[in-house]
Amino acid sequence: MNELFTLDKTYIAGTYARFPVEIASGKGSLMFSPEGKRYIDMGSGIAVNAFGIADELWQQAVIAQLGKVQHTSNLYYTEPCVLLAQALCQRTGMKKVFFGNSGAEANECAIKAARKYAAEKKGPEYFTIVTMENSFHGRTLTTLAATGQAHYHELFQPLTPGFAYAQPDDLEGLKKLALETKAAAVMVECIQGEGGVRPLSAEFLRGAAEFCRQEDILLIVDEVQTGNGRTGKLYAYMNYDLQPDLVSTAKGLGGGLPLGACLFGEKVQDVLGPGDHGSTFGGNPVCCAGALSVLSRLDDTFLAEVQRKGEVLRGLLEGAPGIEAVTGLGLMLGLKTAKPAGEIVKKCMENGVLCLTAKDRVRLLPALNIPDDLLREAAGILLDACREE
Ligand code: PLP
Repeated sequence: MNELFTLDKTYIAGTYARFPVEIASGKGSLMFSPEGKRYIDMGSGIAVNAFGIADELWQQAVIAQLGKVQHTSNLYYTEPCVLLAQALCQRTGMKKVFFGNSGAEANECAIKAARKYAAEKKGPEYFTIVTMENSFHGRTLTTLAATGQAHYHELFQPLTPGFAYAQPDDLEGLKKLALETKAAAVMVECIQGEGGVRPLSAEFLRGAAEFCRQEDILLIVDEVQTGNGRTGKLYAYMNYDLQPDLVSTAKGLGGGLPLGACLFGEKVQDVLGPGDHGSTFGGNPVCCAGALSVLSRLDDTFLAEVQRKGEVLRGLLEGAPGIEAVTGLGLMLGLKTAKPAGEIVKKCMENGVLCLTAKDRVRLLPALNIPDDLLREAAGILLDACREE
C-alpha cells in the first residue's frame, strides 16, 4: 500500500472511508496526484472550492489579508468580516450575520436563535424544530438531532431533544406536526444534498413558508450545500421567492477556507445579544477576505452562466443509457443510475474524473466556473461508466 495511506490508517481517526487517491496539487477544475495523474474535479471538495483550485483572485485576496493580520478574536473589529456581513445582507435583504466555521455551526446558531425567539415570544414550551425526513444538517449532537435520518442517530443517544421530522412535500403533515409540537421553527434544505440531491417541491416550500408566516413559526433554510451560487441563484431559496427568517450557509462561501454564516431576517435580527453565542475563529479575517472575493464575483451574469453550464451538463446526461433520472438545479445534480452509484464513481476515478455519491445517487458538484470543455470531457467519461456493458 502507498506509504501515505498506511500512515493515514495508523494516525488518523477512522471516520472517513477515503478513496485511494492522493491529491498533490491542482488548478481550476483539474487536480493532480503526486505521480501526475490528471483528474477532472466534479466534486469541488463537496461544493467548497467555488472557483476551483488555487483560483488567482481568491488567492490574491487571501494572501493580501495574510500579510496584514490572520486573526484577532471577536474582541476587536476587522474590515473583511464587517464588509462580508454587509455584502451578505445587501445581496439577500437579511439584516444581520453571525460567523462561525462550518455548516453545523451555522445551523447551531440558527437553532439557538429560533429557540430564544420562540421562548421569549410564545413561552418556553415552544422549542421544537421541525425538520424533514431524509435531511442532513450536520454532525454535532444538535445538528445530528436535526438530521432526519435515523441511522445517523443510533450510536449517539441521547441527542439534543426537541426535534420532530415531517415528510418532504406533505404540507398538511408538516402543519399538523408543527402545531402539535408547538414548533419554534421549520428547517428545510430546498434540495436535500446528502439525502440524494432530492429537491422539495416549489408548492411545498411556498406552502410551508406561508404557514410559518401565519403562525409566527420561524423558517430556517439550510443553504450549506445549495448556497453561494450552486443552484444558479445566490441562494437556492431565491428560486422559489421565499423569505426565510434564518439562513445558514458555509461550504462555497469561503471558497476553500472554513467559514460558516447564519443570516438573520428582520424578526430575529436582535434576538441574540452579548454572551448568547460566540466562536473563537468565527469571522476570521483571512476566511472573510476569501469569501468577499467569492461573493463579489457571484453577480447576475456569472449566476446565469452557472445555470447555463448546469443545463449543458443535464442535457448531456438526461435520458442517456444507464441514467434513469437527473435531479437537482444548476451545478448541483444527482443521477439515478441503473448500476450502483459507487461502481460508477469508481470507474470514473480510474478514468480521471472525481465525482461523489449521495445515498444511492451519483452526485455532481463541480466548481461554478468549470470550463465547458472539461464539463463535456467529464460527462463523456461519466456516460461511459453509466452505460450497461
Ligand atoms: N447542512 C447541509 C445541508 C450539509 O450538506 C452539510 C454538510 O454536508 C452540513 C449542514 C454540515 O456542514 P459542515 O460539514 O460544514 O458542518
